[in-house]
Amino acid sequence: KCHNELVRLKGNIRVLCRVRPICQEEAEGDCKNMVTFDPDDDAVLCLSNKGKLMTFELDKVFPPQATQEEVFQEVQSLVTSCIDGYNVCIFAYGQTGSGKTYTMEGVAEDPGINQRALRLLFSEVSEKKPDWDYNITVSMVEIYNEMLRNLLGDTPSEKLDIKMCPDGSGQLYVPGLTEFSVECVEDINKVFELGHMNRATACTNLNEHSSRSHALLIITVAGFNSSTGHRTSGKLNLVDLAGSERIAKSGAEGSRLREAQCINKSLSALGDVINALRSRHSHVPFRNSRLTYLLQDSLSGDSKTLMVVQVSPLDSNVSESVCSLKFAQRVR
Ligand code: ADP
Ligand code: MG
Repeated sequence: KCHNELVRLKGNIRVLCRVRPICQEEAEGDCKNMVTFDPDDDAVLCLSNKGKLMTFELDKVFPPQATQEEVFQEVQSLVTSCIDGYNVCIFAYGQTGSGKTYTMEGVAEDPGINQRALRLLFSEVSEKKPDWDYNITVSMVEIYNEMLRNLLGDTPSEKLDIKMCPDGSGQLYVPGLTEFSVECVEDINKVFELGHMNRATACTNLNEHSSRSHALLIITVAGFNSSTGHRTSGKLNLVDLAGSERIAKSGAEGSRLREAQCINKSLSALGDVINALRSRHSHVPFRNSRLTYLLQDSLSGDSKTLMVVQVSPLDSNVSESVCSLKFAQRVR
């Protein structure tokens, strides 16, 4: 209990901001850069549409030239704390096109947090003391329209439920969720490929679909000490959130409107939960969305949460950038 309090006092919720670079095509057009920063103060400065200069302070800011490695260095200690039995959530938040998937998945030549985290876990557990034995498993889940899909399952279109363990531990579990044991980098690549394939087969436009659903990579690290019988269990949830852009209220109808409502509901539920945890409210509204309900045991107690708020520096995106930065301030 005492230890938990200490962790909470030191702050177990960190909010970072990563500004994506302007790509060549955009630079050749007549777009303007509206975002700058003060790396010494960890602040982002954003020129609003009305010409107002707004300052947002965060725990850390990454300029467009920041590398994947630099971003990963900032989250490494959270990743390895799973080996000691902590539960961790890392979220990428931001409008579509702001770099969420780049940060989490990355590209083949330069992988993001997901791949780097698994590689680091493999190397760390292989260097642990000989008495300890570790098993690392991964699951991939998509949340679309408040429904859970098992991306590594044989029937990914089947909807999954979230249930409370009957043992009174308060732990949640998802019956039927596929978990793969992974031991090496080749295993990870196979798992990611399968997850991507399953995500793609159920939709006509993968880009659109992935911007309207949350993608979760759930890594569990279970440790066993053969001489003392001591066990540890930690979970790392790596979440590429649905695009945070506000959908014009007019215009959207039918399925598009429903999608927008679901995204809005789950992103505001996430903000509410983090806010309640941060201000130590006795009631934390985990049940208001599938996302927060599923992650309940990785957000509460002595869990650690990190949010990477992604921002596009373009003038055409500035109102969404301001919204994302306001969200960041609210949860920080
Ligand atoms: P989102 O997932 O938020 O919709 P993406 O990750 O797909 O956004 O990024 C949009 C585009 O910008 C992609 O082409 C991506 O490769 C590129 N991009 C994003 N962030 C970076 C970065 N830090 N460095 C280089 N390219 C980036
Ligand atoms: Mg994406």
